[in-house]
Amino acid sequence: MKKLLTSVIVLFTWVISAQNNTPYWQQHVNYTMDVDMNVNTFQYKGTQKLVYTNNSPDTLHKVFYHLYFNAFQPNSEMDARLQSIKDPDRRMVTNIGTKENPKYESRIAKLKPNEIGYLKVLSLKQNGKNVKYHTEGTVLEVTLNSPIKPGEKVTFNMVFEGQVPVHIRRAGRNNKDGVALSMAQWYPKMAEYDFEGWHAHPYIAREFHGVWGDFDVTIHIDKNYTVGGTGYLQNPQEIGHGYEDKSQKVIKSKGKKLSWHFIAPNVIDFTWAADPDYIHDTYKVENGPLLHFLYKNDKEIIKNWKEVQPLTAEAMKFYSKNIGAYPWKQYSVIQGGDGGMEYAMCTLVTGGKNSIVGTVFHELAHTWFQHILANNESKHSWLDEGFTTYISSLASDKILKGGEGKPSANGYRGYFYVVDAAIEEPLTTHADRFNLNVAFSVGSYVKGSMFLSQLNYIIGEENVKKTLKKYYNDFKFKHPTPNDIKRTAEKVSGIQLDWYLNEWIETIHTIDYAIDNVEGKEVTLKRIGRMPMPIDVTVTYTDGTTENFNIPLRMMRGVKPTNATILKDWDWAHLTYRFSTPKEIKSVVIDKSMLMADIDRSNNEFKTE
Ligand SMILES: [Zn+2]
Repeated sequence: MKKLLTSVIVLFTWVISAQNNTPYWQQHVNYTMDVDMNVNTFQYKGTQKLVYTNNSPDTLHKVFYHLYFNAFQPNSEMDARLQSIKDPDRRMVTNIGTKENPKYESRIAKLKPNEIGYLKVLSLKQNGKNVKYHTEGTVLEVTLNSPIKPGEKVTFNMVFEGQVPVHIRRAGRNNKDGVALSMAQWYPKMAEYDFEGWHAHPYIAREFHGVWGDFDVTIHIDKNYTVGGTGYLQNPQEIGHGYEDKSQKVIKSKGKKLSWHFIAPNVIDFTWAADPDYIHDTYKVENGPLLHFLYKNDKEIIKNWKEVQPLTAEAMKFYSKNIGAYPWKQYSVIQGGDGGMEYAMCTLVTGGKNSIVGTVFHELAHTWFQHILANNESKHSWLDEGFTTYISSLASDKILKGGEGKPSANGYRGYFYVVDAAIEEPLTTHADRFNLNVAFSVGSYVKGSMFLSQLNYIIGEENVKKTLKKYYNDFKFKHPTPNDIKRTAEKVSGIQLDWYLNEWIETIHTIDYAIDNVEGKEVTLKRIGRMPMPIDVTVTYTDGTTENFNIPLRMMRGVKPTNATILKDWDWAHLTYRFSTPKEIKSVVIDKSMLMADIDRSNNEFKTE
């Protein structure tokens, strides 16, 4: 009997694994780069050795690299998109009309040859042999000499040259704060190949998806420039610039340049910035990494760049406690870019005349929601932008405002605006291909953040806290997908959430519940919006006492932990729902927490005359 049972189990397991025979895998990159920067022409030359491991179950006949800087050229796809979208990113255009009647001109269209960005591949070898390649805009397509088999490692050796564009977006030379070099998306970068196939997205606007791996980068640059970025500096005693051990002597080489050698383990990208005029401060997080702050020696900003330092440490502790431990030894906040943008082990942030704390809180939170939990930003930007917005607003509430750090509906306004204006698009839209930038932004940041704040309403606050921690533990240094956060929340809460992911993210259905009728001890509720939800109801009786009720949505197959009186569940198809109370009713309110994004709250309250 036992033997029979064992063979049945073996057979059963075999059938299951045959049905789902592709367990999680991810590709691996190991870059060694050596680049020589000319700070006068903004041109650089580099070599790149890339050891690429194909961990997929597939044989690869081609590979693709991103050549992001090619976007900053007249007539590129990025330029064309700027010229056709109704609400272009203001940083990337010049208004040649009036304030009331704006007419936008693409700044990319106006770039001269010595101002454009480019990345040119001069030679490429696969395992020592020249390989065929060609460039299409921002993507290099490589036809391999011999296919890369599952489990196989190959080495690509490349010689390339680049020109840093006039600063238009994210990276470039001489940004508006006068930072000389903001070096993001600056090197030929292998595109990601995952369970969905290749993600060789052209660089049009946003955003990124990188291959996990290790970087060894040497940058030769004018010795007056201070460099900050991803990675640990390997030769601080030859560099100085605030990186050195102050108890020992710095011995610099005699030439005009210094050679900065960085290594960065287990990251999806490598970014750096450099300026001859950076102040470099460090700040140690208690039981945590060393923070670096690099910012211009400009008396108008110094106060705010000092103020942010202990607060960054506080935020680092908050995220480590509420999501999971920060895994690297350092993090750098660097003045550069054009607003705030997250990178591996660092961020580029502009400004400082006004406080930069909010921006730094947001970008630092991205370390978790992008640089540790590396979802595909182009396809699911709400997963990183939304979750970053969610956790950084909890951190701001707790650290800056002395609040409890609880989710609130304060940030919902933008969402109600796009719903009202009928410009919303489902969050399954590729980030480049939203009709309007505002629909992308509100969708990703606001509606994405609301995914979690509303989840508090659906499965309870403690369950959401546990969900974030489990999501971190199960998917750190991987590429989680929307289904992974949904499944994590389901496993933590025991509540089924397929309907929630579908309705909230994959459709633009909206929520509207109403109190249809109240008579004596009877309440009738009505679902008007297409999206269903569980319902919290607070009833006040004529004797002045109140009672909370919870009506689970039948599709949830469960109930959140609650002190409320749990009523019979409500299915999706029935549009009305009736329940009775033990006492005469004075008033009824749907969702006192306001965390449910009901688009018409005017019908959520009822009072007897
Ligand atoms: Zn962000």
